[in-house]
Amino acid sequence: MATIIKPTVGNIQLAKEHLSNSNLVAVPTETVYGLAANALDVEAVLQIFKIKGRPLIDPLIVHVSSLEQAKLYCHMNPQAIALAQKYWPGPLTMVLPKKDNIPGVVTANLDSVAIRCPSNRVFRNLLESLPFPLAAPSANPFGYISPTKAIHVSESLGDKIDLILDDDDSEIGIESTIIDLRNGHQPAILRPGPLTQKAIEAEFNLKLTTPQQVVESKSAPSPGLLKSHYSPSKPLDIVKLTEIEAMITKDTLKESAFILNKRPVKLSQSVQNIFWLSESGEMEEIAKNLYALLRNVDKMDYQRIIVETIKAESVGIALMDRLTRASER
Ligand code: AMP
Ligand code: MG
Repeated sequence: MATIIKPTVGNIQLAKEHLSNSNLVAVPTETVYGLAANALDVEAVLQIFKIKGRPLIDPLIVHVSSLEQAKLYCHMNPQAIALAQKYWPGPLTMVLPKKDNIPGVVTANLDSVAIRCPSNRVFRNLLESLPFPLAAPSANPFGYISPTKAIHVSESLGDKIDLILDDDDSEIGIESTIIDLRNGHQPAILRPGPLTQKAIEAEFNLKLTTPQQVVESKSAPSPGLLKSHYSPSKPLDIVKLTEIEAMITKDTLKESAFILNKRPVKLSQSVQNIFWLSESGEMEEIAKNLYALLRNVDKMDYQRIIVETIKAESVGIALMDRLTRASER
Protein backbone atom coordinates (compact mmCIF):
# COMPACT_ATOMS: atom_id res chain seq x y z
CA MET A 1 0.00 0.00 0.00
CA ALA A 2 1.30 3.46 -0.90
CA THR A 3 2.70 5.67 1.82
CA ILE A 4 1.52 9.27 1.80
CA ILE A 5 4.51 11.44 2.65
CA LYS A 6 4.73 15.13 3.51
CA PRO A 7 7.11 17.18 1.34
CA THR A 8 9.99 17.49 3.80
CA VAL A 9 13.55 17.76 2.48
CA GLY A 10 14.12 14.12 3.43
CA ASN A 11 10.97 12.92 1.69
CA ILE A 12 11.73 14.84 -1.49
CA GLN A 13 15.12 13.11 -1.43
CA LEU A 14 13.31 9.78 -1.02
CA ALA A 15 11.06 10.56 -4.00
CA LYS A 16 14.12 11.54 -6.00
CA GLU A 17 15.84 8.22 -5.27
CA HIS A 18 12.68 6.33 -6.12
CA LEU A 19 12.36 8.07 -9.49
CA SER A 20 16.07 7.61 -10.21
CA ASN A 21 15.60 3.85 -9.71
CA SER A 22 12.91 3.59 -12.43
CA ASN A 23 10.03 3.70 -9.95
CA LEU A 24 6.91 5.87 -10.03
CA VAL A 25 5.92 8.54 -7.51
CA ALA A 26 2.59 10.37 -7.30
CA VAL A 27 3.26 14.10 -7.13
CA PRO A 28 1.28 17.24 -6.36
CA THR A 29 0.90 19.81 -9.14
CA GLU A 30 -1.13 23.01 -9.25
CA THR A 31 -3.55 21.38 -11.73
CA VAL A 32 -4.20 17.82 -10.45
CA TYR A 33 -2.02 15.11 -8.82
CA GLY A 34 0.29 13.40 -11.31
CA LEU A 35 1.79 9.92 -11.61
CA ALA A 36 5.44 10.67 -12.38
CA ALA A 37 8.27 8.69 -13.95
CA ASN A 38 11.64 9.52 -15.49
CA ALA A 39 10.57 10.58 -19.00
CA LEU A 40 13.84 9.25 -20.47
CA ASP A 41 13.41 5.78 -18.95
CA VAL A 42 11.30 3.56 -21.22
CA GLU A 43 10.64 0.88 -18.59
CA ALA A 44 9.49 3.44 -16.03
CA VAL A 45 7.23 5.20 -18.55
CA LEU A 46 5.68 1.86 -19.55
CA GLN A 47 4.75 1.36 -15.90
CA ILE A 48 2.65 4.56 -16.03
CA PHE A 49 0.54 3.15 -18.87
CA LYS A 50 0.25 -0.21 -17.13
CA ILE A 51 -0.76 1.16 -13.73
CA LYS A 52 -3.29 3.63 -15.15
CA GLY A 53 -4.64 1.21 -17.75
CA ARG A 54 -3.93 3.97 -20.25
CA PRO A 55 -3.68 3.05 -23.94
CA LEU A 56 -0.19 3.46 -25.41
CA ILE A 57 -1.63 5.66 -28.16
CA ASP A 58 -2.36 8.40 -25.59
CA PRO A 59 0.83 10.51 -25.28
CA LEU A 60 2.10 11.89 -21.95
CA ILE A 61 3.00 15.40 -20.87
CA VAL A 62 6.69 15.92 -20.01
CA HIS A 63 7.39 18.22 -17.05
CA VAL A 64 10.50 20.36 -16.76
CA SER A 65 11.76 22.87 -14.20
CA SER A 66 12.59 25.69 -16.64
CA LEU A 67 12.43 26.96 -20.20
CA GLU A 68 16.13 26.14 -20.49
CA GLN A 69 15.44 22.50 -19.60
CA ALA A 70 12.52 22.40 -22.05
CA LYS A 71 14.88 23.39 -24.86
CA LEU A 72 16.86 20.18 -24.27
CA TYR A 73 13.85 18.08 -25.27
CA CYS A 74 11.93 20.02 -27.93
CA HIS A 75 12.46 22.55 -30.69
CA MET A 76 11.12 25.87 -29.48
CA ASN A 77 10.03 28.61 -31.88
CA PRO A 78 9.81 32.34 -30.98
CA GLN A 79 6.06 32.09 -30.26
CA ALA A 80 6.57 29.16 -27.90
CA ILE A 81 9.34 31.03 -26.11
CA ALA A 82 7.11 34.09 -25.72
CA LEU A 83 4.28 31.97 -24.26
CA ALA A 84 6.68 30.16 -21.92
CA GLN A 85 8.13 33.45 -20.71
CA LYS A 86 4.66 34.76 -19.99
CA TYR A 87 2.92 31.70 -18.51
CA TRP A 88 5.60 29.36 -17.13
CA PRO A 89 5.74 28.13 -14.50
CA GLY A 90 2.02 27.44 -14.73
CA PRO A 91 -0.86 25.44 -16.22
CA LEU A 92 0.17 25.74 -19.87
CA THR A 93 1.26 22.69 -21.90
CA MET A 94 2.79 23.26 -25.33
CA VAL A 95 3.00 20.68 -28.12
CA LEU A 96 6.27 21.16 -30.04
CA PRO A 97 8.54 19.14 -32.35
CA LYS A 98 10.42 16.72 -30.13
CA LYS A 99 14.11 16.03 -29.93
CA ASP A 100 15.45 12.48 -30.26
CA ASN A 101 16.21 12.09 -26.55
CA ILE A 102 12.48 11.77 -25.74
CA PRO A 103 11.56 8.10 -26.19
CA GLY A 104 8.73 7.28 -28.58
CA VAL A 105 6.73 5.58 -25.84
CA VAL A 106 6.22 8.99 -24.17
CA THR A 107 4.73 10.59 -27.28
CA ALA A 108 2.84 7.62 -28.75
CA ASN A 109 5.52 7.66 -31.46
CA LEU A 110 4.52 11.13 -32.63
CA ASP A 111 7.33 13.44 -33.64
CA SER A 112 5.99 16.07 -31.25
CA VAL A 113 6.08 16.27 -27.45
CA ALA A 114 3.73 17.96 -24.97
CA ILE A 115 5.82 19.92 -22.46
CA ARG A 116 5.00 21.91 -19.32
CA CYS A 117 6.82 23.73 -16.55
CA PRO A 118 4.62 23.47 -13.42
CA SER A 119 4.39 26.03 -10.62
CA ASN A 120 3.65 23.83 -7.59
CA ARG A 121 6.59 24.41 -5.22
CA VAL A 122 7.00 20.80 -4.13
CA PHE A 123 6.91 19.43 -7.67
CA ARG A 124 9.40 22.12 -8.71
CA ASN A 125 11.78 21.23 -5.86
CA LEU A 126 11.66 17.64 -7.04
CA LEU A 127 12.18 18.53 -10.72
CA GLU A 128 15.06 20.84 -9.87
CA SER A 129 16.78 18.04 -7.94
CA LEU A 130 16.60 15.61 -10.87
CA PRO A 131 18.85 15.32 -13.93
CA PHE A 132 15.88 14.20 -16.09
CA PRO A 133 12.35 15.49 -16.86
CA LEU A 134 9.24 13.74 -15.53
CA ALA A 135 6.44 12.27 -17.62
CA ALA A 136 3.29 12.63 -15.53
CA PRO A 137 -0.34 12.12 -16.50
CA SER A 138 -3.02 12.44 -13.82
CA ALA A 139 -2.67 9.86 -11.03
CA ASN A 140 -5.98 8.04 -11.58
CA PRO A 141 -7.15 4.94 -13.43
CA PHE A 142 -7.62 5.86 -17.10
CA GLY A 143 -10.96 7.53 -17.77
CA TYR A 144 -11.89 8.20 -14.12
CA ILE A 145 -12.08 11.57 -12.34
CA SER A 146 -8.64 13.19 -11.86
CA PRO A 147 -7.26 13.41 -8.29
CA THR A 148 -6.93 16.73 -6.48
CA LYS A 149 -5.87 15.32 -3.08
CA ALA A 150 -3.26 12.75 -2.04
CA ILE A 151 -6.05 10.60 -0.58
CA HIS A 152 -7.74 10.42 -4.02
CA VAL A 153 -4.56 8.87 -5.41
CA SER A 154 -4.29 6.46 -2.54
CA GLU A 155 -7.94 5.37 -2.95
CA SER A 156 -7.60 4.38 -6.60
CA LEU A 157 -3.90 3.54 -7.14
CA GLY A 158 -2.70 2.94 -3.58
CA ASP A 159 -2.11 -0.77 -4.12
CA LYS A 160 -0.04 -0.18 -7.27
CA ILE A 161 2.50 2.48 -6.20
CA ASP A 162 4.79 3.06 -3.21
CA LEU A 163 4.89 6.81 -2.63
CA ILE A 164 2.47 9.72 -2.78
CA LEU A 165 3.93 13.17 -2.11
CA ASP A 166 1.22 15.13 -0.32
CA ASP A 167 0.95 18.90 -0.75
CA ASP A 168 -2.71 19.36 0.24
CA ASP A 169 -5.38 20.23 -2.31
CA SER A 170 -4.39 21.04 -5.90
CA GLU A 171 -4.54 24.80 -6.17
CA ILE A 172 -6.36 24.93 -9.52
CA GLY A 173 -8.11 21.56 -9.65
CA ILE A 174 -8.40 20.91 -13.40
CA GLU A 175 -5.90 19.85 -16.05
CA SER A 176 -3.61 22.28 -17.91
CA THR A 177 -4.49 24.15 -21.08
CA ILE A 178 -2.82 22.43 -24.07
CA ILE A 179 -1.70 24.49 -27.07
CA ASP A 180 -0.29 23.07 -30.28
CA LEU A 181 2.57 25.39 -31.24
CA ARG A 182 4.25 23.28 -33.88
CA ASN A 183 3.20 25.98 -36.31
CA GLY A 184 4.10 29.05 -34.28
CA HIS A 185 2.17 31.28 -36.67
CA GLN A 186 -1.11 29.41 -36.19
CA PRO A 187 -1.29 28.06 -32.65
CA ALA A 188 -4.27 25.89 -31.76
CA ILE A 189 -5.94 25.10 -28.46
CA LEU A 190 -6.12 21.31 -28.12
CA ARG A 191 -7.62 21.24 -24.62
CA PRO A 192 -9.24 24.20 -22.84
CA GLY A 193 -7.94 24.74 -19.33
CA PRO A 194 -7.26 27.16 -16.50
CA LEU A 195 -5.40 29.52 -18.80
CA THR A 196 -8.13 30.72 -21.15
CA GLN A 197 -8.09 31.19 -24.90
CA LYS A 198 -9.32 34.76 -24.40
CA ALA A 199 -6.44 35.63 -22.06
CA ILE A 200 -3.83 34.26 -24.47
CA GLU A 201 -5.41 35.98 -27.48
CA ALA A 202 -5.55 39.31 -25.67
CA GLU A 203 -1.97 39.05 -24.41
CA PHE A 204 -0.46 38.14 -27.79
CA ASN A 205 -2.92 39.84 -30.11
CA LEU A 206 -3.64 36.67 -32.06
CA LYS A 207 -6.48 34.28 -32.88
CA LEU A 208 -6.09 30.68 -31.72
CA THR A 209 -7.61 27.79 -33.63
CA THR A 210 -10.28 26.25 -31.39
CA PRO A 211 -10.49 22.54 -30.43
CA GLN A 212 -13.59 22.31 -32.63
CA GLN A 213 -11.71 23.66 -35.65
CA VAL A 214 -8.82 21.29 -34.91
CA VAL A 215 -11.16 18.30 -34.97
CA GLU A 216 -12.86 19.49 -38.18
CA SER A 217 -9.63 20.20 -40.06
CA LYS A 218 -7.93 16.98 -38.84
CA SER A 219 -4.70 18.92 -39.39
CA ALA A 220 -3.31 18.59 -35.90
CA PRO A 221 -4.05 15.15 -34.51
CA SER A 222 -4.25 15.10 -30.73
CA PRO A 223 -4.74 11.53 -29.67
CA GLY A 224 -6.13 11.07 -26.21
CA LEU A 225 -8.69 13.84 -26.35
CA LEU A 226 -11.38 11.23 -25.96
CA LYS A 227 -15.08 11.88 -25.90
CA SER A 228 -15.59 9.91 -22.71
CA HIS A 229 -13.18 10.83 -19.91
CA TYR A 230 -12.99 12.22 -16.37
CA SER A 231 -16.06 10.08 -15.62
CA PRO A 232 -17.65 9.00 -12.36
CA SER A 233 -18.99 5.44 -12.22
CA LYS A 234 -22.59 6.71 -12.06
CA PRO A 235 -24.32 8.29 -15.08
CA LEU A 236 -23.85 12.05 -15.09
CA ASP A 237 -26.11 14.63 -16.74
CA ILE A 238 -25.64 18.37 -17.17
CA VAL A 239 -28.88 20.28 -16.62
CA LYS A 240 -29.93 23.94 -16.41
CA LEU A 241 -30.78 25.28 -12.95
CA THR A 242 -34.43 25.97 -13.84
CA GLU A 243 -34.88 22.32 -14.87
CA ILE A 244 -32.97 21.07 -11.83
CA GLU A 245 -35.46 22.75 -9.52
CA ALA A 246 -38.29 20.79 -11.14
CA MET A 247 -36.26 17.56 -10.99
CA ILE A 248 -35.55 18.00 -7.29
CA THR A 249 -39.26 18.34 -6.57
CA LYS A 250 -40.03 15.16 -8.52
CA ASP A 251 -37.16 13.10 -7.08
CA THR A 252 -39.03 12.07 -3.93
CA LEU A 253 -37.02 8.85 -3.54
CA LYS A 254 -33.81 10.90 -3.55
CA GLU A 255 -32.20 8.71 -6.18
CA SER A 256 -30.18 11.53 -7.73
CA ALA A 257 -27.42 13.72 -6.37
CA PHE A 258 -27.75 17.32 -7.52
CA ILE A 259 -24.59 19.39 -7.82
CA LEU A 260 -25.16 23.13 -8.10
CA ASN A 261 -22.67 25.88 -8.98
CA LYS A 262 -23.27 27.73 -5.74
CA ARG A 263 -25.00 27.50 -2.38
CA PRO A 264 -28.73 27.62 -3.09
CA VAL A 265 -30.73 30.42 -1.52
CA LYS A 266 -34.17 29.05 -2.24
CA LEU A 267 -33.71 25.43 -1.26
CA SER A 268 -33.70 24.35 2.33
CA GLN A 269 -30.26 23.13 3.40
CA SER A 270 -31.76 20.04 4.94
CA VAL A 271 -32.21 18.48 1.51
CA GLN A 272 -29.33 16.04 1.81
CA ASN A 273 -29.02 15.10 -1.86
CA ILE A 274 -28.15 18.66 -2.88
CA PHE A 275 -24.49 19.70 -3.08
CA TRP A 276 -22.71 22.81 -4.31
CA LEU A 277 -19.33 23.60 -5.83
CA SER A 278 -18.85 27.08 -4.36
CA GLU A 279 -20.35 29.57 -1.97
CA SER A 280 -21.07 32.30 -4.48
CA GLY A 281 -20.47 30.86 -7.95
CA GLU A 282 -16.87 32.00 -8.35
CA MET A 283 -15.34 30.06 -11.27
CA GLU A 284 -11.93 29.38 -9.66
CA GLU A 285 -13.60 27.95 -6.57
CA ILE A 286 -15.84 25.75 -8.71
CA ALA A 287 -12.77 24.43 -10.58
CA LYS A 288 -10.94 23.70 -7.35
CA ASN A 289 -13.84 21.74 -5.85
CA LEU A 290 -15.27 19.97 -8.90
CA TYR A 291 -13.33 16.69 -8.91
CA ALA A 292 -13.34 16.22 -5.13
CA LEU A 293 -17.11 16.68 -4.98
CA LEU A 294 -17.70 14.38 -7.96
CA ARG A 295 -15.59 11.71 -6.27
CA ASN A 296 -17.44 12.08 -2.98
CA VAL A 297 -20.87 11.92 -4.54
CA ASP A 298 -19.82 9.00 -6.75
CA LYS A 299 -19.10 6.99 -3.58
CA MET A 300 -22.57 7.63 -2.14
CA ASP A 301 -25.67 5.58 -2.87
CA TYR A 302 -27.20 7.77 -5.58
CA GLN A 303 -28.06 6.23 -8.92
CA ARG A 304 -27.19 9.26 -10.99
CA ILE A 305 -25.44 12.61 -10.71
CA ILE A 306 -27.08 15.76 -12.04
CA VAL A 307 -24.70 18.71 -12.42
CA GLU A 308 -25.88 22.24 -13.07
CA THR A 309 -24.69 23.72 -16.37
CA ILE A 310 -21.68 25.97 -15.86
CA LYS A 311 -21.53 29.22 -17.78
CA ALA A 312 -19.14 28.63 -20.72
CA GLU A 313 -16.89 31.61 -20.21
CA SER A 314 -13.33 31.93 -18.86
CA VAL A 315 -12.45 28.76 -16.89
CA GLY A 316 -16.09 27.69 -17.31
CA ILE A 317 -15.21 26.62 -20.88
CA ALA A 318 -12.72 24.07 -19.52
CA LEU A 319 -15.14 22.97 -16.80
CA MET A 320 -17.92 22.33 -19.33
CA ASP A 321 -15.39 20.47 -21.52
CA ARG A 322 -14.60 18.10 -18.61
CA LEU A 323 -18.25 17.72 -17.58
CA THR A 324 -19.34 16.98 -21.13
CA ARG A 325 -16.74 14.22 -21.36
CA ALA A 326 -17.78 12.94 -17.92
CA SER A 327 -21.37 12.72 -19.18
CA GLU A 328 -20.47 10.62 -22.26
CA ARG A 329 -21.06 6.91 -21.85
P1 AMP B 1 -3.26 14.09 -19.74
O1 AMP B 1 -4.32 13.14 -20.16
O2 AMP B 1 -3.72 15.16 -18.82
O3 AMP B 1 -2.01 13.42 -19.32
O4 AMP B 1 -2.88 14.95 -21.03
C1 AMP B 1 -2.20 14.41 -22.07
C2 AMP B 1 -2.88 14.81 -23.32
O5 AMP B 1 -2.06 15.73 -24.01
C3 AMP B 1 -3.05 13.65 -24.27
O6 AMP B 1 -4.21 12.93 -23.98
C4 AMP B 1 -3.09 14.35 -25.62
O7 AMP B 1 -4.41 14.75 -25.91
C5 AMP B 1 -2.23 15.58 -25.40
N1 AMP B 1 -0.91 15.36 -25.98
C6 AMP B 1 0.17 14.88 -25.35
N2 AMP B 1 1.22 14.79 -26.19
C7 AMP B 1 0.78 15.22 -27.38
C8 AMP B 1 1.38 15.37 -28.66
N3 AMP B 1 2.64 15.05 -28.87
N4 AMP B 1 0.60 15.85 -29.66
C9 AMP B 1 -0.66 16.19 -29.44
N5 AMP B 1 -1.29 16.07 -28.26
C10 AMP B 1 -0.58 15.60 -27.24
MG1 MG C 1 -5.67 12.36 -17.16
